[in-house]
Amino acid sequence: MQQIAYPALIRQGSFINGAWQHTETTFNVVNPANQKLLIRVAAAGAAEAEEAVLAAASAFSGWAARPAAERADLLQRWYQLVIQHQGDLARLLTLEQGKPLTEAKGEIAYGASYIQWFAEEAKRLYGDTIPAPSADKRVIVQRQPVGVVTAITPWNFPNAMIARKAAAALAAGCTFVVKPAHQTPLSALALAELAHQAGIPSGVFNVVVGTDAKAIGDVLTRHPKVAKFSFTGSTAVGKQLIKQCAEGVKRVTMELGGNAPFIVFDDADLDAAVQGLLASKFRNAGQTCVCANRILVQRRVAQAFTDKLAIAITQLKVGDGLTGNSQIGPLIDSNAVEKVAQLQQQALSSGATLLLGGKTDEAGSQFYQPTLLTDIRPDMEIARQEIFGPVVALQTFDSEQQAIALANDTEYGLAAYFYSRDIGRGFRVAQALQFGMVGINDGIISNAAAPFGGVKQSGYGREGSHYGLDDYTDLKYLCLGGL
Ligand code: ADP
Repeated sequence: MQQIAYPALIRQGSFINGAWQHTETTFNVVNPANQKLLIRVAAAGAAEAEEAVLAAASAFSGWAARPAAERADLLQRWYQLVIQHQGDLARLLTLEQGKPLTEAKGEIAYGASYIQWFAEEAKRLYGDTIPAPSADKRVIVQRQPVGVVTAITPWNFPNAMIARKAAAALAAGCTFVVKPAHQTPLSALALAELAHQAGIPSGVFNVVVGTDAKAIGDVLTRHPKVAKFSFTGSTAVGKQLIKQCAEGVKRVTMELGGNAPFIVFDDADLDAAVQGLLASKFRNAGQTCVCANRILVQRRVAQAFTDKLAIAITQLKVGDGLTGNSQIGPLIDSNAVEKVAQLQQQALSSGATLLLGGKTDEAGSQFYQPTLLTDIRPDMEIARQEIFGPVVALQTFDSEQQAIALANDTEYGLAAYFYSRDIGRGFRVAQALQFGMVGINDGIISNAAAPFGGVKQSGYGREGSHYGLDDYTDLKYLCLGGL
């Protein structure tokens, strides 16, 4: 077993109602950089998920009744502890997930920024007074917490996807149960430990870890005490979970897959576009739902852009995220490697050209080389699906209209990016793109102040920003009569 340097934050079982659970059955947490066992964690199932929902249900009225300023103080304390332990949390994250340590530190800061943001927003959960239709009435609108919120989160952001949901839920006065991905339970459990240390009361924040996602998911989406379910993951699984939630008419937030276009117009600053693409494409080795997936370059600058990009890609360092200055870590598991290789192979056999990379790296079997493919056509599978790997798939286009049509030709609508120095084009294109988020001359767009979320089959609901509390509150209308 690999020695983990920061045992203080390591927990080996679910956190339910303020207590650590230990079941007989365990599952392995593996380091994706070398496939070595890191630790065994007690596996929860449906029974523990139900216990967590019941704990959240009994904690709800007390938590909701606290003055917003008190909830804000507790969230602030949680935020400070996360920042204080940023190094330990990042190291744990890299060990179980693989991303380079610098990126992991970035994720901890990014996750923490949502806790801080919603600690502040907790105090601004304003209602409204609306002019009434008659003189003897008053129309008052209040916002109330929806109740018990459950969530399922993915392995690509083991800390931030939880912080982003939990902070909004807790700020609004909801209680929370999350099931993280089984590949990355340690970051979630460390967050629970810090929530506990911050003084967040028992039952308010619960983490259920296990490998039987279906059984746990059934409880989290169907239990009568659950008011709302929030999911980040694939569109296929999301659709199934929406159906399950529909049975009980539960509110849902869905952050699903994307197929982000990254358009480089012929008036773009090509050096800036290369930098933006590197940031968007290669973050987390290409394993994010907002990673640039279809690179669309205007024909007149295609050669110049490709040349600059190729030089930049050659300089990327692949390797274990804990050692040296690696920029590209491993993919999460061997299936992920297989999927990327297959998409690449299909593209090559349909006429794509391989300029760089194209195979696993000598750093290890789950490291994929940064890869550059050109001559991609929109009908190729690699342009239809999320690649989720460090592969740039480049297409060319001729006109602005064609670029917009190509960009929108997908069932997904999460993030889109484009580079242009023409302000008129900037507004036209931003307006025409059917996506929830658009980066204009920027490859990294997500932050706590902004609403993150998609349209079309990328889901609904927004996380972060002042809109982020909407999903966790119900409007209650009070009609005061007989004045
Ligand atoms: P990814 O490709 O990121 O693994 P998934 O949608 O498969 O995307 O997984 C996201 C989360 O959904 C993970 O926590 C996973 O365990 C969970 N999950 C996968 N299948 C189901 C299911 N049938 N029911 C509930 N949760 C599921």
